[in-house]
Amino acid sequence: MAPIDLPELQRLDAVHHLHPFNDNAALAKRGTRVLVRGEGCYVWDAEGNKLLDAFAGLWCVNIGYGRKELGQAAARQMEQLAYYNSFFQCTTEPTIRLAAELAGLAPGDLNHAFFVNSGSEANDTILRLVRHFWAVQDKPRKNIFIGRHNGYHGTTVAGASLGGMKGMHEQGGLPIPDIHHIDPPFWFADGGDLSEEEYGLVAARRLEQKILELGPDRVAAFIGEPVMGAIGVYIPPMSYWKEIERICRQYDVLLVADEVICGFGRTGQWFGSQHFGIQPDVMTIAKGITSGYIPLGAALFNDRVAGVLKDVGGELAHGATYSGHPVCAAVALENLRIMREERIVDTAREEVAPYLAQRWAELGEHRLVGQARIVGMMGALELVPDKGRREFFPERGKVGGLCRDTALRHGLILRATYDSMLLSPPLVLTREQVDELFEKAWKALGETAEAIG
Ligand code: PLP
Repeated sequence: MAPIDLPELQRLDAVHHLHPFNDNAALAKRGTRVLVRGEGCYVWDAEGNKLLDAFAGLWCVNIGYGRKELGQAAARQMEQLAYYNSFFQCTTEPTIRLAAELAGLAPGDLNHAFFVNSGSEANDTILRLVRHFWAVQDKPRKNIFIGRHNGYHGTTVAGASLGGMKGMHEQGGLPIPDIHHIDPPFWFADGGDLSEEEYGLVAARRLEQKILELGPDRVAAFIGEPVMGAIGVYIPPMSYWKEIERICRQYDVLLVADEVICGFGRTGQWFGSQHFGIQPDVMTIAKGITSGYIPLGAALFNDRVAGVLKDVGGELAHGATYSGHPVCAAVALENLRIMREERIVDTAREEVAPYLAQRWAELGEHRLVGQARIVGMMGALELVPDKGRREFFPERGKVGGLCRDTALRHGLILRATYDSMLLSPPLVLTREQVDELFEKAWKALGETAEAIG
């Protein structure tokens, strides 16, 4: 392989490449980091730094980097049939086999897959198809979606509208009409004197209040991430989702679980819904379905919803050129085969997650950490100015950014949202790597605390 001319790449990047979710002007001055290789839980950058990737790319490289079988599955499929679509009464074998495989894996009767290319498109898909589901049953006014403030459902117009990120709404005139938001379940900031379980019920009943305010005949669906990822790994109390499910059933509001992060083992179960013991009517998935090796997303519908969409007859006026792309489906099938045969989800839950939780709790003892939260293989450290109090730094994000950069200097990738340090390693993390993660994170916390005085 020819050596990389990093300064030239950085120059080209600054001139020609707009990065997502970046301050592009600042990045152009500083120079982007170029990643060149990955193996297991590590990536290497163009300067030769070896980094423990405790964020699995973007919550997605569940089986770890460098699994050649996935590349081989893609190559085999490309050589045999690189592309065909699922329009025009056609499809391909891997597409069908993946739909069937997902029906077997997903909880309950989520037996019907609509394929897209990303989590955002999956959420666009459910907005349209759920509204269509109600409209064809003579309920066109039952079209409102309720999401949560600070929820993240992607970046397309519908996805960003369903999400509750204020900064995203401000760019591009969102949300679109008929989308409402309730406050998220975040006991650390919002729970007051309530126990976490009591607070879970209070937070869930905000949905009931909102449905009654809007009218149950107007509300089509509630959408939520089982564990809210991007905003800071908000792990709701166990009481929360059961109560949400009860409310959805009572008012005939469809329950949509956005499992783009939680799906495929992140919480220790195959799906986050199983961790919380709920049965969604609709589910959106992406990321871990291919361990991020190739883009793929899907919306899964239960028998009731898919039955109506099929029985109504006529054309389903929705779809993308790459819906059910055979190469993406072949890679997903190989990824899922590896996950099943190597018992990756069970091993993570039974052997790694308990040890990770123990060491994460030790990090929670650091004077900079106000709360260490973790479920399965995802967690957060909430950095605070005063350990005894559940309060944030006045200028949110500065300390988190400093801690992230310090961790990176020690060879550890953690993400910071405001002052929450986020954890989401590949599920194949070993106990030795948990120790390495702990040592590097502890150093980063110590140096950050020292730097802020
Ligand atoms: N939903 C959730 C919960 C996510 O975290 C994300 C991305 O991080 C998305 C949807 C959007 O997925 P994508 O970036 O593949 O469009």
